[in-house]
Amino acid sequence: MQTINSDLRERDQKHLWHPLTQHKTAAAALPIVRAEGAHLFDDSGTKYIDGISSWYTAVYGHCNPYITSRVAEQMTRLDQVVFSGFTHEPAIKLSEALIAILPKGQQKLFFNDNGSTATEIGIKMALQYHHNLGNDRKVMLAFEDGFHGDTFGAMSVSGLSVYNGAFEDHFIRVERIPVPNGENTAEILEKIQVLHAENGIAGFIYEPLIQGAAAMKFHDAEGLNEILKFCRKEHIILVADEVMTGFGKTGKFFASDYLSEKPDIVCLSKALTAGLLPMGITSCSQKVFEAFYSEDIAKGLFHGHTYTANPLACTAALAAIDLLHSAEMQNNIAQIRKSNEAFAEKLKRQPKAKNVRNIGVILAFELDVEMERYGNLRNKLFRFFMDRGVALRPLGNTIYIVPPYVISEEDLQYTYSVIEQVFSEF
Ligand SMILES: *Cc1c(COP(=O)(O)O)cnc(C)c1O
Repeated sequence: MQTINSDLRERDQKHLWHPLTQHKTAAAALPIVRAEGAHLFDDSGTKYIDGISSWYTAVYGHCNPYITSRVAEQMTRLDQVVFSGFTHEPAIKLSEALIAILPKGQQKLFFNDNGSTATEIGIKMALQYHHNLGNDRKVMLAFEDGFHGDTFGAMSVSGLSVYNGAFEDHFIRVERIPVPNGENTAEILEKIQVLHAENGIAGFIYEPLIQGAAAMKFHDAEGLNEILKFCRKEHIILVADEVMTGFGKTGKFFASDYLSEKPDIVCLSKALTAGLLPMGITSCSQKVFEAFYSEDIAKGLFHGHTYTANPLACTAALAAIDLLHSAEMQNNIAQIRKSNEAFAEKLKRQPKAKNVRNIGVILAFELDVEMERYGNLRNKLFRFFMDRGVALRPLGNTIYIVPPYVISEEDLQYTYSVIEQVFSEF
């Protein structure tokens, strides 16, 4: 079955349209034939360290045998059943396992297919919550530069960008506020008050503490907490998008665990299913659920995806949560955090590394070089890392890592050393 390198590349280009890709200018996609633990292997046998856990999904390692064996076993018993009118044990067990670790107050789970649908439903819940209560609130509040996905609602509440231009006329109504930086909280609260008085805000969607797609932008926890408190007082539904931050990446189960003010709704995906199968979940509090609980059928949440609560995806998520609880995985996270901390200290003494920041397994900084000199710096950095066997996806001049929890100390130190080589090469 072995095919040669160029063959797969050519066949790829014949019929495949890749995400987030301008095919006219993009390099051919690299065929990956195998993945194991913290490693990806291409079709010529070259090994790469998966420095971002394949977009923050495969944190327990690729093809983790505990997870794959649990899913394989489930596969022989129940593959799929309609989740409207039917239920099954994997979904029930997962609801119990998740509610036990979700931020306090979460009570009900609504299943969906990915991170975008998880936030899309979070937005729909917030808007319909007020609709059902007869409140005139039709606007969502969001952070500037946020990212919540690519479906219409999710795209609308994300930061404005060149990528969304074709759809702007079709966006839902959104008002945007800056992220708290430790100095602007009072201004932000004032702005929310004005916006709310003018528009009637239904919900506030936010990536707690870290904006992943905005190049791992960190924001002030105290300021965010103040904003959440203020919104709660105004009966604005709090929608935490934990799609990127969830399941241990910040060193706690969820980034919301760093905040005293808890969300009404939480959006989950990515590491939820450990990179094995796609699934999203939108959880909510009893208060939110009760606004939909009625004799009136129209007050229900009439949203549903065919693969809702797929038993295999639920089993992958359950196995993943088992691993997350294990002493071994918690030790791994603590070890990466410690190593990252030491590396961050080192980076802070490096004049070309600006705004060095780290939390849990996440570490990021900006490479301070004259970007014009490099044409497309981002692409050059990407190639630089790949040529040295490390798969990272820099954003502009931001270099960041979100390694799988199972990465060996040796691979982690190697990743750091390749990052340090950037300073002499660029
Ligand atoms: C990736 C991401 C999404 C979108 O998830 P998809 O599964 O790609 O649709 C939404 N919110 C955040 C914070 C994300 O990181």
